[in-house]
Amino acid sequence: MDKNLLIRNLRNVPNFPKEGIQFKDVSTLFKNPACVKEMLNELVNIYKDKGITKVVGIESRGFVMGAMLAEKLGAGFIMCRKPGKLPAKTISAEYNKEYGTDTIEMHEDALGENEIVLIHDDLLATGGSMKAAIELVNKFAPKKVYVNFLIELRMEGLKGREFIGEDAEISTLLTLTE
Ligand code: AMP
Repeated sequence: MDKNLLIRNLRNVPNFPKEGIQFKDVSTLFKNPACVKEMLNELVNIYKDKGITKVVGIESRGFVMGAMLAEKLGAGFIMCRKPGKLPAKTISAEYNKEYGTDTIEMHEDALGENEIVLIHDDLLATGGSMKAAIELVNKFAPKKVYVNFLIELRMEGLKGREFIGEDAEISTLLTLTE
């Protein structure tokens, strides 16, 4: 995979959404067809032989590559969403944010028995939202859970990979330290 192509095209927005945060804006990767192709090919290479039956995307930036990858893998695509967005009966999990807590939801019939699930999001920071998504997916007693991020942030104080721990097998396309 051409990591430099991705790094060159990823926009960093300093101090968004608040002072001190270096926001990694993946919209500049998504708008570039060469970057999309590069990321999708790499994801297909990693997951093509794993028998993935469902890709779960986390709202909203996890929907973009997640849905494309599901099609390539011949898997179904599931939306993991913010509260109140899914119309049918849901199950939910809470996670801690810097200030207070947040909740994510999935439809209670989103997954069946014996599924091999890949949960995908754009970026790993603290790992809080992914840990909650894993907790939700585990309620369906899947055969195996994989986790993927386009970008892993490894900066001071961020220990997302450690926080997720042994709950799932993790892959990331880019690791950024600043
Ligand atoms: P976390 O639950 O802390 O791992 O945060 C991950 C979620 O927040 C992902 O859905 C990201 O899109 C978003 N996020 C957190 N920090 C950043 C950042 N520095 N740049 C871009 N997105 C971020």
